[in-house]
Amino acid sequence: MTKVLVLAEAKNGKLRNVSFEVLTVAGCIASDGEITACVFGSDAEKYSEEIAKYGAQKVYVVNNKELNEYTPDGYKQALLKVIDEVQPQVVLTGHTSIGKDVFPRVAARLNAGLISDCTDVQTGKGIVFTRPIYSGKAFQKKKITEGLVMATIRPNNIEAVENEVAGETIKLPVEIKDLRTVVKEVVKKAAAKVDLSEAKVIVSGGRGVKSSKGFIPLQELADVLGGAVGASRAACDAEYCDYSLQIGQTGKVVTPDLYIACGISGAIQHLAGMSSSKVIVAINKDPEANIFHVADYGIVGDLFEVVPLLTKEFKKVLA
Ligand code: FAD
Repeated sequence: MTKVLVLAEAKNGKLRNVSFEVLTVAGCIASDGEITACVFGSDAEKYSEEIAKYGAQKVYVVNNKELNEYTPDGYKQALLKVIDEVQPQVVLTGHTSIGKDVFPRVAARLNAGLISDCTDVQTGKGIVFTRPIYSGKAFQKKKITEGLVMATIRPNNIEAVENEVAGETIKLPVEIKDLRTVVKEVVKKAAAKVDLSEAKVIVSGGRGVKSSKGFIPLQELADVLGGAVGASRAACDAEYCDYSLQIGQTGKVVTPDLYIACGISGAIQHLAGMSSSKVIVAINKDPEANIFHVADYGIVGDLFEVVPLLTKEFKKVLA
């Protein structure tokens, strides 16, 4: 009977999709055990019903205005308190900026094991977590048989499955103190229509896009497909686009249903961030480009001719 705790995450007043995926993973691990979730912030209570739809029997709500914006100290204190209350064997969250930041801190404090960026979980004799290593060239399996383990789950990788239960909401007061970071204002950069890390379709541009203006046809294609625009590091370094769009080893790791790489050569560091996409389409004028080795469909051609053609055809099909 495994007790699993999930830290759910909300963004812009909505629960992030990855939280439902993590609750689904929690369901596989807990089996007949207990799934508990926690969510933080002054209006966190409004999320408990939706969390229960994905199988959480208990939802701990930490209503505290100090937790409205993420701070490492605030989240650490709140999560430690919930863990102390619930006494789980497994604690899960999404492999998001928050998950990547707060889980190592809490794991270190509790002397717990931490497995990050998991793409699969199997249960049987012990719990086996799978995670990519060497920029996605190999997979490592980690078997947990005892002790507290914390794990972050890669977004967009495991399908979220509803499993509605009558969830109980429990308000847990936590005194947040000695905050070393105070968030005074959140300044948003360009308001992307679709969140890159959760997008089902990504149209990504590399150095071959040649300028910031060159990204316009990519954005048009992404709009028609209801997707987001991403970029290689070379495109970000050349200031064609913002670093928040960078995909790869030192950028975001994405797993969309469809990844369209335009003018990207396919360096190993870029592949590390997108090679687990379900379908990869590469558009490159160099037939020898490495990206074609990972692509399901390759188009050898000039992206400035191919991308507008694709947009035009998709518009017809999707109209
Ligand atoms: P290039 O390699 O210059 O490729 C441009 C491509 O565009 C070429 O294949 C060319 O044939 C094609 N092209 C040109 N014009 C057209 C056209 N009109 N139509 C069609 N195709 C055209 N990179 C990342 O992306 N993400 C990372 O997170 C990352 N992290 C890194 C970390 C480290 C420690 C290091 C050392 C490097 C990292 N890099 C990362 C950089 C990486 O090694 C590559 O330099 C980078 O990915 C190259 O980007 P690119 O494919 O856009 O550019």
